[in-house]
Amino acid sequence: MKIIDGKAHRYVKFLVYGCQMNVADAERMAGQLADIGYERLSDEAAMEEADLLIINTCAVRETAEDKVYGKIGEIKGLKRNNPQLIFGITGCMAQKESDSLIKRAPHIDFVLGTGKVHELNQVVQEIEQEHGHVVNTALDDKTAPAIAEDSRVAREGKLSAWIPIMYGCNNFCTYCIVPYVRGRERSRRPEDVVKEVEQAVAQGYKEVTLLGQNVNSYGKDHKLATFAELLQMVDKVPGIKRVRFMTSHPKDLSDEVIEAIATGEHLCEHIHLPVQYGSNHLLKAMNRVYTVESYKDLVKKIRAKLPHASLTTDLIVGFPGETEEDFAQMLDFLKEIRYDSAYTFIYSKRSGTPAATMDNQVDDAVKKERLNALMAVQNQISLEKNQALLDSVMEVMVEGPSKNDASVWTGHTRTNKIVLFNHQDEQPGDFIQVKITHPQTWVLKGIRV
Ligand code: SAM
Ligand code: SF4
Repeated sequence: MKIIDGKAHRYVKFLVYGCQMNVADAERMAGQLADIGYERLSDEAAMEEADLLIINTCAVRETAEDKVYGKIGEIKGLKRNNPQLIFGITGCMAQKESDSLIKRAPHIDFVLGTGKVHELNQVVQEIEQEHGHVVNTALDDKTAPAIAEDSRVAREGKLSAWIPIMYGCNNFCTYCIVPYVRGRERSRRPEDVVKEVEQAVAQGYKEVTLLGQNVNSYGKDHKLATFAELLQMVDKVPGIKRVRFMTSHPKDLSDEVIEAIATGEHLCEHIHLPVQYGSNHLLKAMNRVYTVESYKDLVKKIRAKLPHASLTTDLIVGFPGETEEDFAQMLDFLKEIRYDSAYTFIYSKRSGTPAATMDNQVDDAVKKERLNALMAVQNQISLEKNQALLDSVMEVMVEGPSKNDASVWTGHTRTNKIVLFNHQDEQPGDFIQVKITHPQTWVLKGIRV
């Protein structure tokens, strides 16, 4: 707490793990907390400055959970030095582990599940007064979350806004914990999404990313609009420059969505289309409900309609039962599809999911070996895809100085590639044309034209 001009200011710091959905959730929590007088500290601020510390957690892989447990341990000393500090856990691990977190680490004051985020202020105020523990992780699919349309959003970025359009997941991929900790799919009303985009534009945001575990099934619950229709509505918001979305499940990316991107003015030509694996044997075991063949047909369709679009994916190696034959098929598949880039993960056993109890769990050393082989193949493809952009001129949204060199600035293309260029007089939020002169695996270097 700080006293400024005779008035007490209290501060909240968020430690956010996991995906963009968690970043967006933290922005909503920060917006709510502003109503009871908490200002959000920046990511760079020390934890010691906080009156309220919240870890918004991820449970998708064991490594993410390990990091959180490490942080929880670190915070024990802080709490000892400052007993007034309120420390809470939110997000997927809060939902999954519930009161066992407090049993393991009694210096945690509250655990709030993914369906109870809208009760955050009430919980914090209760602890301010009573100093007890609060655990609330009930997850009622009908009412949760927390589509608290009236709550404010305290955004982190200045140019790009994360806009959740739906919560939860119905897909139950056999490796994945998300449906268990986020509940069933619930879509926001189209008018609420559009209103949030309009507000973001009014605040100066140039770009929005529409978020959901499977945006293609947007609106299947309330039937007020399909995802393609929502994209068209958002595209028409006056002043919006770029519209992105993630993630698309390949099983239901519709022709209408592809058409909307092809004809939309601001809909960016980038589709993140996680395949997870490149053999039918494993796709079936993963319950992905498409085949290698149907996925390839979909990619053909996308490329026919959107020849300049970039295509990215998520891949998991070491899923139970993965054979040498499966893995060879996976590498062939990658060489055929030629993604612009891929997020590659080692399968992580999540208790409670069907895959956790499957026979033939793959040996850790084999998993690592396969991950390296997979990354080597994909990195070469990413480099070649970027090399094909040599001498092309691309529109870049200017973001600011790069991390390592303040004279080199960075931005993204519509296809979501990172571009580096020498800074002259560009300002964040400018749209410039850059000629690509040095394409590399992860970035494109170029000069402004
Ligand atoms: N809903 C999105 C989809 O279906 O593509 C992604 C959600 S998940 C948070 C992000 C990625 O994590 C998945 O695409 C998958 O590759 C990976 N993932 C999920 N569960 C995993 C597990 N148990 N082990 C390793 N990776 C996992
Ligand atoms: Fe997890 Fe599959 Fe749902 Fe994505 S679609 S969140 S991978 S269950």
